[in-house]
Amino acid sequence: MRSIIALLLLGTLSCSTDSPASTPPAEASLPDAAESRSEEAQIEKLTLSDEEWKLRLAPASYRILREAATERAYTGSLWEEHRAGLYTCAGCDLPLFSSETKFDSGTGWPSYWQPVEPKHVTEHEDRGFFTVRTEVRCARCSGHLGHVFDDGPLPTGLRYCLNSAALSFDPGKAPDAAPLD
Ligand SMILES: [Zn+2]
Repeated sequence: MRSIIALLLLGTLSCSTDSPASTPPAEASLPDAAESRSEEAQIEKLTLSDEEWKLRLAPASYRILREAATERAYTGSLWEEHRAGLYTCAGCDLPLFSSETKFDSGTGWPSYWQPVEPKHVTEHEDRGFFTVRTEVRCARCSGHLGHVFDDGPLPTGLRYCLNSAALSFDPGKAPDAAPLD
């Protein structure tokens, strides 16, 4: 009996250490550190099954968009694309990047310093064994596009390092870069 009382007391004590102030607000539980650069909620989602994606996408695009693979540097079709045009998501056609913000990063992957609309991409923490990177996904279909780094050119200082097979290129339409906030 005495041990039961002791357990009850312990339970009371451990619960009493959880003051309301130590409970984080709901917003703080979001895992994505960079939510401030994206407004995911405003984009209508496209959700398909894996089977539907396999039918819809070329194998290389499926591996990147749906399985977060990375194409080998200098092997994609768009890293050396210099024409004016619009880069859209290969999974759902959402406009993502413009030739106006594309630059030669020397990495062998198509690189941009800003998306056409901040809300068209979402950012997610990507933890590897030794690295923490920021993954970039399409805001409509959640397809993996690549990563964003802080070593890009002005005016943003960002480098969106993307996979060619995650993108479709539409030459001739090159929207101006959106004004920076
Ligand atoms: Zn998409």
